[in-house]
Amino acid sequence: MTTVLSSAIDAKRDDLIALTQDLIRIPTLNPPGRDYRLICEYLDKRLADHGFQTELIRAHGTPGDSDKYPRWNMVARREGTHPGDCVHFNSHTDVVEVGAGWTFDPFGAEVSDGKIYGRGTCDMKGGLAASIIAAEAFIETHPDFAGAIEISGTADEETGGYGGVAYLAEQGYFDPKRVQHVIIPEPLNKDRICLGHRGGWWAEIETKGEIAHGAMPFLGDCAVRHMGAVLQEFEDKLFPAMAARYTEMPVVPEGARQSTMNINSIHGGEAEPEPGFTGLQAHCVPDSCRIVIDRRFLVEESLDQVRGEVTDLLEGLRKTRANFDYEITERNSVLPSMTDKGAPIVTTVARAIEDVMGKEPQYVASPGSYDQKHIDRIGTLKNCIAYGPGILDLAHKPDEYIGIDDMIDSAKVMGAALQTLLLPTSD
Ligand SMILES: [Zn+2]
Repeated sequence: MTTVLSSAIDAKRDDLIALTQDLIRIPTLNPPGRDYRLICEYLDKRLADHGFQTELIRAHGTPGDSDKYPRWNMVARREGTHPGDCVHFNSHTDVVEVGAGWTFDPFGAEVSDGKIYGRGTCDMKGGLAASIIAAEAFIETHPDFAGAIEISGTADEETGGYGGVAYLAEQGYFDPKRVQHVIIPEPLNKDRICLGHRGGWWAEIETKGEIAHGAMPFLGDCAVRHMGAVLQEFEDKLFPAMAARYTEMPVVPEGARQSTMNINSIHGGEAEPEPGFTGLQAHCVPDSCRIVIDRRFLVEESLDQVRGEVTDLLEGLRKTRANFDYEITERNSVLPSMTDKGAPIVTTVARAIEDVMGKEPQYVASPGSYDQKHIDRIGTLKNCIAYGPGILDLAHKPDEYIGIDDMIDSAKVMGAALQTLLLPTSD
């Protein structure tokens, strides 16, 4: 990268810290989806002051959108002086609940020992701030660039992204005719390129029984015992089958290179009493038992196969187990996304990491999904990665922080990528 750009980013260190602190101090908790309007107005003003055309877009009617908690998004675009590609930096503005165990004020954004502490520092307001600083420094030092730079701040990534990137993709914001390269500055560590993520399938399974007096269970049919049989089938057949599959995707941590399934919850029979209730339970045979499953799958598996594997086991029980009856309700599904290692955004950022940090990048994929799925599937834009500062393991934890030097380094990588993509004659 040019020394003039590198020095310009170093010179913005205080600005980067102040920007990150301002973003952290807007408590955009999701759920319920607080203060999206406030953070979008902040970003809008910041980027309009730096010559961007800005837009605030509400995702009307998407899950969670209401007049009390409207789903606002901000998209800013700065045109270069002649035609070329558009590079888009997309960050989600929402943060997850605070949780227990903090020693710092979660929305205080205190600086200590070269780090900024607070909910969302790592995931992912630090990445958002780094991308803004990178773009502003690049524009200042190379005002005659080609193409365009876009920066978006979007809602609801932590709850599926339907009021954020999915909505913008439906409106054409990620049409490959409009945008050619996307970097999502999620906290994947500053020397790693995240190519994509596994898929997910969420479903509720209910087993059915028949209510009767608990002293005469033979007159009813226990839905909890039927569910026990379902779980036994999973233990005997499904879990071993999933553990035997191994993906070519470079998923980290290693355990997530297999197919996995979590059983989120189980409910059967009488409802839990209110806290403080001192009465005794009634004696009934449960007529319903429900579990919610969270099945994560690999790029080598299809959604139909994933669904079919579970329903085949349930249908098998219908044949072998007396009075077995069930219902399955799909809650949500997400397909895996995997960008080709030879895609332009991958090779460009790889070269930028080598240039700035003097080492080869590591290529990874995420065990859980992020907004790349919408850019890929709805936007049909395949040239997308996650790359940003921050330690992935700190996301959603107490005393979450972002290292200031890490933000500077990854801003330089983003700046170097802009040089490659938007200054085609520079090398
Ligand atoms: Zn995130």
